[in-house]
Amino acid sequence: MAAKIFGPHNDNQPMTTLAPLIACHDCDLLQHEVTPPPGGVATCPRCGAVHYRNTVNSRERSLALAMTAAILFVIANLYPIAGIETQGNRHASTLFGAVHTLWHDGSALIAVLVFITTILVPALELALLIWLLTTPRPAPWGLRLVLAMQPWRMVEVFMLGLLVSIVKLSHLASIEPGIALWSFAALMPLFAALSSNFNARDLWLTIPHREST
Ligand SMILES: [Zn+2]
Repeated sequence: MAAKIFGPHNDNQPMTTLAPLIACHDCDLLQHEVTPPPGGVATCPRCGAVHYRNTVNSRERSLALAMTAAILFVIANLYPIAGIETQGNRHASTLFGAVHTLWHDGSALIAVLVFITTILVPALELALLIWLLTTPRPAPWGLRLVLAMQPWRMVEVFMLGLLVSIVKLSHLASIEPGIALWSFAALMPLFAALSSNFNARDLWLTIPHREST
């Protein structure tokens, strides 16, 4: 049995190819791997679960999005998030400055969480992605690490928290959005586009099989 193909019909593409066996991740049905036409989807013939997509130029699009996100991420960390002015005193802080303040104000756990989810994980993920998408021989551990880190990147949650804080504080002080805030706002749709364009299967296929010992 072979996986079903959904997508534009291609006369040059055989609809089924007796290729290596794969197991459905939902119902465990063993089936032969097939190559869908560009833009097509391979699904399980029993439960209909989507196995993989044949995305066109996914690697190039993911690299462009990752490099744009990396530039914005650097800007988001170098410049102040917002300026607060109360009674003539103006204070502006970067993201790292906010983590530093939280740490010294006795909120060490929150400081560590903010540092991991908004600085460390996005920085590592972007660096690894750019390396994986540009190197001719991506390493399996790099790909595994990127996939494991994705749920821990929480720029969107941070941005929501930031917006709520700014709205609440705007009654008490004058708030001026900083360059970093606009960068974080632009990073949200960029990370979403990156997640939908990145096709891990394309990279797995470029990794040669290990020789058995
Ligand atoms: Zn299935």
